Amino acid sequence: MKRTLIKHVLVSDAIGEPVKVAGWVRTRRDSKGGFSFVEINDGSSFSGIQVIVPGELENYESEVLHVTIGSAIAVEGELVESPGKGQRVEIHATRVTIYGLADPDDYPLQKKRISFEKLRDIAHLRPRTNTFGAVARVRNALAYATHKFYQDRDFLYLHAPMITGSDAEGAGEMFRVTTLEPGAAPQAGGSVDYSQDFFGKPTFLTVSGQLSAETYASALDRVYTFGPTFRAENSNTRRHLAEFWMIEPEVAFADLSDNADLAEDYIRYMFQYVIEKCPDDLAFFDKWVEEGLLDRLHTLATSEFRRITYTEAIAALEKAEGEFEFPVRWGSDLQSEHERYLTEVVFDQPVIVVDYPKDIKAFYMRRNDDGKTVAAMDVLLPGVGEIVGGSQREERHDVLLESIREKGLPEEEYWWYLDLRRFGTVPHAGFGLGFGRMVQFTTGMQNIRDAIPFPRTPNSAEF
Ligand code: ATP
Ligand code: MN
Repeated sequence: MKRTLIKHVLVSDAIGEPVKVAGWVRTRRDSKGGFSFVEINDGSSFSGIQVIVPGELENYESEVLHVTIGSAIAVEGELVESPGKGQRVEIHATRVTIYGLADPDDYPLQKKRISFEKLRDIAHLRPRTNTFGAVARVRNALAYATHKFYQDRDFLYLHAPMITGSDAEGAGEMFRVTTLEPGAAPQAGGSVDYSQDFFGKPTFLTVSGQLSAETYASALDRVYTFGPTFRAENSNTRRHLAEFWMIEPEVAFADLSDNADLAEDYIRYMFQYVIEKCPDDLAFFDKWVEEGLLDRLHTLATSEFRRITYTEAIAALEKAEGEFEFPVRWGSDLQSEHERYLTEVVFDQPVIVVDYPKDIKAFYMRRNDDGKTVAAMDVLLPGVGEIVGGSQREERHDVLLESIREKGLPEEEYWWYLDLRRFGTVPHAGFGLGFGRMVQFTTGMQNIRDAIPFPRTPNSAEF
């Protein structure tokens, strides 16, 4: 008999019909009447399904009574309306097949609640918990929503390379890619001779797909990347990973305000999508992880974002009551505490800060006419702070070259990037959205390590 996923069985009208499901046991209760209730979950939905196993089954005593939490079983039976509360249907089993038992003395996921921290050490089992099953489904829904949003708007999905030969963009924060043996690497002039390395030069894991995206936007008009990026920043915070996924749209013939519109639309779309597709998972997060989450998501799914300039942001922060750890001064970057103060306290809504001082932003951001600022934007969300960083890119060849020189970057490495400004240059803009932070925000999970299947952070790369 063909197996049906539990999510489909739970909404099925085929009462009285035969059905087959399989999954992992969440609970088993034996009734005095000589039968058992077994709840199984296959991850297709938040809820599992209740199965009534009659004592008459030939393997009831020999096998069914040995089934414990975590065992993998398949059940064939009849779908019946459930007399109990909390479920519409249940299955009366006519056959139970046991695939794998889970010794209750060893299986770590017994009933009691285990801290998220502890669960990180058993990342191979945590997807079987309610919380991590729900995080995985929400993450999946957000990924699908991302593709749908951009594909519906005629964006082309671009695969940017993960290995890059340019180290200038993420100075100091990059992981080196090499096949040379540490300690036995060939030397030249007192340092490692990378001309003998795999690529014949130093290479690194990418920190961003933006420069590739700009290349393709300069030919195909609108593109987006959605892939892993890597940063060796030693920041042990609850919103940084060493390996994280980013979505980076890039649009030709667009300016900063088009860019901000796109970011707003995209973020709202994701909220709407996940509210529609994952109601049970969100209800769980609302009840057990962050009170008020659902209300907040509903509000955000329709609300406008507040747009202010960096200079206005500094003025608002200078008026703030109380102390910040990092002083507020025109010219310094906004710290996480400042970002959160703006979005949580001052405006109590998502905020897009634009026009940052040029000295704290990347060389490729477009110079504003004031000579002091660039057309940068950061999108700030309450709870996580920065979720998006983006800008209108400098499309004027001479100004870009000046920026590269001013920042002391190796001009010769950017010949191809400068070429885009020599041949058919156009105003264009784009941004990067940290996917993990989006998952964090929509689930209410406090730590980004619990928003990705296998977190990579300083001193930790489990499995
Ligand atoms: P932050 O100031 O928060 O460290 P950033 O300014 O270095 O971020 P960008 O280079 O602007 O980040 O990257 C774009 C987006 O990628 C950020 O807005 C954020 O959502 C996400 N992001 C950046 N670094 C990380 C990280 N280490 N882990 C997870 N997400 C990240
Ligand atoms: Mn940023």
